[in-house]
Amino acid sequence: MRIVMLGAPGSGKGTQARLISTKYGAVHLSMGSMLRDEVAEQTEIGRSIGGTLSKGDMVSDSIVNMLIESQLHSYESVILDGYPRNLEQAEHLDEYLLEHPPRLDVVFLLELPLESVIRRLSGRRVCDRCSRTYHVDFYRLKTCPCGGTLIRRSDDNPTTIEHRMEVYKKEIAPLRNFYQEQDKLFPIIADQGVEGTFADISRVLDGVILPSIKVPNQAK
Ligand SMILES: [Zn+2]
Repeated sequence: MRIVMLGAPGSGKGTQARLISTKYGAVHLSMGSMLRDEVAEQTEIGRSIGGTLSKGDMVSDSIVNMLIESQLHSYESVILDGYPRNLEQAEHLDEYLLEHPPRLDVVFLLELPLESVIRRLSGRRVCDRCSRTYHVDFYRLKTCPCGGTLIRRSDDNPTTIEHRMEVYKKEIAPLRNFYQEQDKLFPIIADQGVEGTFADISRVLDGVILPSIKVPNQAK
């Protein structure tokens, strides 16, 4: 299966992608973590994008396209989280998958009111080891069960959050239209708790993905 997760920063894309990965066995590809890894490992790409990331700006299309292609080359069943971010990337992905099938099955759009986004992001902490996220209102410990330390991401501050939301709003409209025209877009209400949101996602996947996988098997 090939799935794309769309949604504002803080809409819970990463959490839901992890749950899908556990239940359906696809690889979770988080562009945010991939980029932060490049920065942490001080690769050539990492050194060139460090400043862009901490300001909450977009990394160039050519870099993220290249990173995602190297992953799609290795994994067939994936959940893309944080990519594509704009229409150019979506069109690039489509062309790439046309030559390297399977193509996308489902695109989820997690929808959340702006005030919830701000509340979630300003209290968000990320584990520096496993990238799991927590909210200070619900999780009071300073460490993750994996042993990692919980840190505030450099782009989760009020000024940057506002800027990231402006960037997001500008980019999401054309993306939404693009996938809607392909009949692949499934909007999901993301303000109903992790379990409620995942239940909606599972219903879609069970209806769309599983039948499409079973048909070729039965035909054999
Ligand atoms: Zn952890």
